[in-house]
Amino acid sequence: MNLEYTPTTCPYCGCGCGFNLVSVDGRLVGVEPWKRNPVNEGKLCPKGNFSYEFVHRDDRLTTPLIKEGGKFREATWDEALDLVASKLSEMKESNAEQLAFLSSARCTNEENYVFQKFVRTVIGTNNVDHCARLCHGPSVAGLAQTFGSGAMTNSLESCAHADVVFLIGTNTLEQHPLMWRRVLQAKDKGAKIMVADPRFTPSAKQADLYLPFKSGTDVALLNGMMNVILEEGLEDKEFIENRTTDFEELKAMVKKYPVEEVSKITGVAPELIREAAIMYAKADNAALLFSMGITQHTVGTENVMSTSNLAMLTGNIGRPGTGVNPLRGQNNVQGACDMGALPVSFPGYQAVINEELVSKMETSWGCSALSPTPGLTVVEIMHAAHDGDIKGLYIMGENPMVSDPDIQHVEAALNNLDFLVVQDIFLTETAALADVVLPAMSWAEKDGTFTSTERRVQYVRKAVDGPGEARDDWAIVSEIATRMGSDLFNFNSPQEIFEEVRSVTPQYAGMNQERLSKPEALHWPCPDEEHPGTPILHAERFATADGLGVFKAIEWKPPAENPDEEYPFILTTGRSLFHWHTGSMTRRSETLDREMPSGWVEINTEDAAELGIKNKEMVRVKTRRGEIEIGAKVTPDIIKGTVFIPFHFAESAANILTSGDQLDPFAKMPELKVSAASVQKITG
Ligand code: SF4
Repeated sequence: MNLEYTPTTCPYCGCGCGFNLVSVDGRLVGVEPWKRNPVNEGKLCPKGNFSYEFVHRDDRLTTPLIKEGGKFREATWDEALDLVASKLSEMKESNAEQLAFLSSARCTNEENYVFQKFVRTVIGTNNVDHCARLCHGPSVAGLAQTFGSGAMTNSLESCAHADVVFLIGTNTLEQHPLMWRRVLQAKDKGAKIMVADPRFTPSAKQADLYLPFKSGTDVALLNGMMNVILEEGLEDKEFIENRTTDFEELKAMVKKYPVEEVSKITGVAPELIREAAIMYAKADNAALLFSMGITQHTVGTENVMSTSNLAMLTGNIGRPGTGVNPLRGQNNVQGACDMGALPVSFPGYQAVINEELVSKMETSWGCSALSPTPGLTVVEIMHAAHDGDIKGLYIMGENPMVSDPDIQHVEAALNNLDFLVVQDIFLTETAALADVVLPAMSWAEKDGTFTSTERRVQYVRKAVDGPGEARDDWAIVSEIATRMGSDLFNFNSPQEIFEEVRSVTPQYAGMNQERLSKPEALHWPCPDEEHPGTPILHAERFATADGLGVFKAIEWKPPAENPDEEYPFILTTGRSLFHWHTGSMTRRSETLDREMPSGWVEINTEDAAELGIKNKEMVRVKTRRGEIEIGAKVTPDIIKGTVFIPFHFAESAANILTSGDQLDPFAKMPELKVSAASVQKITG
């Protein structure tokens, strides 16, 4: 018997927990805690614990598939690669801007790097994006405007040193359980926990102060808190004076938000808003954590900038136990952004519209004529495909048929394409619509790096061989590039790719194999090999040109869609403890699927009574986009007038109901957290 332990990084949330994958004779049999790992110190949540279960599933893709006459047939790699290369070459010749590419926050840094390099150097467009657009695009855009850098300011461990932890729009206990462990460590030392959420979540139940506010009223709530802080003279005058700019504009604007008015907008009692403001402002160190409850709005970027305002007003930046901390969703969504899988930036957030940076990248890559035109974002790509302006789409490791807003629109868009390539590990709902499907390796079958939410770059290591003829994503993309005539993709290993990554990505320049192999790992920015990495940003100065943080005077705006007589509820969506995003991996884990086999709609007890709906009864939830049938969970743990559906379940897909019509002007985020909906009991 050959028993092996392979240290690696969890493939689910952005916490980036480390553990050993345990294999016997080339088959995974479990995971083993890795106590020295500083992220999770040997602890795991259920998803990490059972992360190995989907890897050897019988329904893994094992060979390329080509669709003929509406049906897939197995193909050789040569056939499939030649078909993809020739089709992309032909379409590129016609018009490169009619091609678009979705990269993957589930794939490694090296794979994302190769993918965007392929799009830019071989195809000649910036039409490359990924699911960060639908989770933390506004975090990147908002924090970049206020702090000069779009990343989480502090480390996970830093949160354990807070005196107050303010969670807004994050159910951290269920979504980032090992971050929640740090919140509890702070609580054990006497910290107060405040939670603002329309749902009385498991996180909220452990809070000292709970603010049950209406989805879509974040800016009003935060302005109300700042109003109290200024009224009480609790602002950090020294920090404001020395470290920030544009305070007077903020002050004038915040005056318009007395708590009594804010209470009418948010539904939170004035005294609770006052108590929260004073608790946050009086803390020696207050950490602010947020997630998609803040970002998934057409005002997502403004919501994020509001959190920056609150932190700067009270001087809660640049020390342990403070900061503005967007908890990134997917395991490598931070890394996919860092690697330039974005339509506006090369690796390291170097803008494609900057002529100097364009010529710098041309020199580094040894190519010419990189496009300086920003590309289309995820939702824009789907709209363009729907309208016939995008004709070819190549998707690596994403499943927009479950993850994107308005799924019927997405399906029509994908069916309208001339050519769809999907590269994945399972025949997902999206892959089923493809012309060519390319089988890839899962995370347990490959080497590379992931970058966690705290900007920590960590190794992923191959524990077992992949199934059948599946290949590494970077190898597939490199082979297509080579068949299209490029000589820029002669990579032999992820290590070789990483060397190129750090040569063009300033934040990663000081990271080498030896340094990354240590369990302590490194947080970017790490500009040279002597630099220790940066667990806490903005300690002395912000990353803006003049080093000052920028206050943004932001007015509250109502959501793009509001309840009315026909659709009287606010529908909001989110994740659960046992599943991850579109469920393509967790729903194939026997244990996780047994824990949570189907979706549900949460509805307040009083609302349910008015509609004659009992717990577990089937109901119809309807919006202007479509309708689904789903079981009801009748509960007092959600505010009246709001319903909640987890978005993991394709058979009761929450995103049939959401809208992609209106977008955040900065980050192009749709209004995923607020849809006007009706709920009806199904009779007969
Ligand atoms: Fe994996 Fe996140 Fe759970 Fe850690 S907290 S085990 S990274 S899913």
